[in-house]
Amino acid sequence: FEEIEKYDPEIAEVITKEIARQGDHVELIASENWVSKAVMAAMGSPLTNKYAEGYPGKRYYGGCEWVDVAENLAIERAKQIFGCEYANVQPHSGAQANTAVFFAMLEPGDKVLGMNLNHGGHLTHGSPVNISGKYFHIIPYGVNEEGYIDYDALEELAVAEQPKLIIAGASAYARTIDFKRFREIADKVGAYFMVDMAHIAGLVAAGLHPSPIPYADVTTTTTHKTLRGPRGGMILASAEANEKFNFNKAVFPGIQGGPLEHVIAAKAVSFKEALEPEFKAYQEQTVKNAKALSEGLMSRGVKLVSDGTDNHLMLVDLKDTELTGKELEARLEKANITANKNTVPNDPRSPFVTSGVRLGTPAVTTRGFKEAEMDVIAEAISLVVASEDNVEKAKALVNGLTDKFPLNA
Ligand code: PLP
Repeated sequence: FEEIEKYDPEIAEVITKEIARQGDHVELIASENWVSKAVMAAMGSPLTNKYAEGYPGKRYYGGCEWVDVAENLAIERAKQIFGCEYANVQPHSGAQANTAVFFAMLEPGDKVLGMNLNHGGHLTHGSPVNISGKYFHIIPYGVNEEGYIDYDALEELAVAEQPKLIIAGASAYARTIDFKRFREIADKVGAYFMVDMAHIAGLVAAGLHPSPIPYADVTTTTTHKTLRGPRGGMILASAEANEKFNFNKAVFPGIQGGPLEHVIAAKAVSFKEALEPEFKAYQEQTVKNAKALSEGLMSRGVKLVSDGTDNHLMLVDLKDTELTGKELEARLEKANITANKNTVPNDPRSPFVTSGVRLGTPAVTTRGFKEAEMDVIAEAISLVVASEDNVEKAKALVNGLTDKFPLNA
């Protein structure tokens, strides 16, 4: 860091201020986490200097003997964590992993069933502004009045539309996903079945959410959310599915050039961590904390989509109130709580305003917060939901927590 301060004080200041921001805010963005120092160090290593187009043992550049070792370790550990036969650890992000899978399995214009963005799905599952929505014929499915995926409606839709691919997975869905049912529906209509487990990958690794691996033709994930690795993506499949679709070729040379070997080394380190017993305990606490936060909020009269959560996140439902998601996000920010506005199912407001806020517990759990702290956060949030005048009172509660749990950045 001294090197940055010496050479580029402007960037040094950004880093210093961002560390301070992360320290004095309560981080409730459901897709964020804090990596370990070992993961951070691998990302900042000289492996970033290396070009390594291709795959271990089959590179287009010389001098790859050591990055090959790192990439093979990442692949083997990923396979061990999730119990699968094939892993590609090169996607630079979750979006890249999904795009590579589409490139491997589909032709432009093919019909795809993906979860509606407004019901909790992800941009890359067919939003009109994403390449997935532009290149494929997307049929969105969603949740029922209670906020659960409507499997019967999904089955009807699949039978009527006969898609080539069905995608399961979400960015803002608080309930367990029934991958077996998805597989049955895909089989009924002869569709391929893909799971994007980005949000729940850490829970799956710890056995706290059913694994998609036995059911999906291919599974994608990010590595930086509940999985607590560096920012990146990954593709998992059976050897047979990979034989058929050749996912390696779709990633490189299909949609990417040289892999980020420093990030791949950091993935390997984080996967080693994910194989430790402490990781399971961390995921269990993340889920317990989400339960505690949801109960703390509901007992104070704050409504949640589907009235609770099975995983690491929940969605505050403001549909029946004057308060918008945008306004609540701003009030929370003033109280040093970071969260994001989010549409809720059948949201009457625009995606820029929304009637919801998404809250998640992976980052605060890494910081050491437990159920008691979740109750304080629930109190702080319900105070600002009730009135903007309570922002200072809420901020005092938040400051108490961040002082008690200093961030070991
Ligand atoms: N898939 C899901 C379900 C996600 O929630 C996200 C990110 O929020 C992604 C994919 C995209 O990941 P990335 O931001 O790494 O491209």
